[in-house]
Amino acid sequence: MIYFDYSATTPIDPRVLDAMMPYLTESFGNPSSIHRYGQKAEAAIESAREMVASFLNCLPAEIIFTSCGSESDNLAIRGGALGMREKNGSQWILASRAEHPAVTKTIEQLGKHYGFLPEWLDVNAQGMVTAEVVSKAICNNTGLVSVMYANNEIGTINPLRDLAEICRANGILFHTDAVQAAAYLPVDVQVLSVDMMSLGSHKFYGPKGVGALYVRKGTPLISHNTGGGQENNLRAGTQNVAYIVGFAESLKLTAQEREQRIKHVQPLRDKIIGAVLETIPDSQLTGDMNVRLPHHASFVFKDVDGNLLLTLLDAAGFACSSGSACKTGNPEPSEVMNTLGLPREWGLGSLRVTLGKDNTVADVDSFLKILPSLVEKARNLNQR
Ligand SMILES: *Cc1c(COP(=O)(O)O)cnc(C)c1O
Repeated sequence: MIYFDYSATTPIDPRVLDAMMPYLTESFGNPSSIHRYGQKAEAAIESAREMVASFLNCLPAEIIFTSCGSESDNLAIRGGALGMREKNGSQWILASRAEHPAVTKTIEQLGKHYGFLPEWLDVNAQGMVTAEVVSKAICNNTGLVSVMYANNEIGTINPLRDLAEICRANGILFHTDAVQAAAYLPVDVQVLSVDMMSLGSHKFYGPKGVGALYVRKGTPLISHNTGGGQENNLRAGTQNVAYIVGFAESLKLTAQEREQRIKHVQPLRDKIIGAVLETIPDSQLTGDMNVRLPHHASFVFKDVDGNLLLTLLDAAGFACSSGSACKTGNPEPSEVMNTLGLPREWGLGSLRVTLGKDNTVADVDSFLKILPSLVEKARNLNQR
């Protein structure tokens, strides 16, 4: 079996697991306890926080550890919207139409149950949010804008700094979901100029079930999990010490090895994109040809059932995805495919191939050898 689904999740790097192990065994203290067990756990969390802050180029106190990327998005958006409303009465929350459900569902809920006014920003045909779109959409009653750094389904990278600067000039909070991007793109929050940024370690060889939110000093943010005073009073609950240590270690390795990792995956990706577009009739790349994550190839095939193609690929020994990780038997194209303006007969046939450090040229060659016939087979089955 060959794994081509690194955007869904990655295996834990053995070096990360080694760093975590002591905190799952002998160093088990509660970081809020006064005694030495507690001190040791607290020291581990604070050194993880310092490490993360150094890679994000921010203060340790600006890092909030959470339970996952989705929770970071929830805290940023719900907490930021409530905080800004309290500060200046703002009601509008803007996000792109291509966001992850952790963002879109949170904003929909804020519209339905909390009296906020959601507005969805259009993306261009490559799935990108442009500065013009943001400039036009904001008003003096806008509290928060959320645009992802890179898209999980189509790999497109957004011009974050441009978007963030527009918001900053207008006193609007700018949040980015960088959960997918952080595996390959620099995450210096001063360069990106963002107020809040969500991360999750399982997309870069760290454990599942742990995330972080960067929150710029002075950002009005209301806690969504109330209780003890952990995480600067913004996220109650005894911290998951081992996973936080794992988060920091995996981010460190990602920062240190970024160039090597890109050098490994990018030529493989380019080979896949070139060969698929050349050998498979009625195929299109989704997202931008150049401004995309280096490990990410995504396509649509006309008159193909994407889920059927995934099943055929699985039977042939390849684990791919059709976009988001949601695998319910939903026969509708994903929101992102619709947002790109793809007709239904194209949007239903999406395929995402995302590479990682264990993939080889031989993996890619055997994939490219079999894919055209599987697309053909899926197409024929679709016609009956
Ligand atoms: C994976 C992902 C998430 C969710 O992260 P979890 O840690 O799985 O909750 C959010 N946004 C994007 C863009 C993602 O790729």
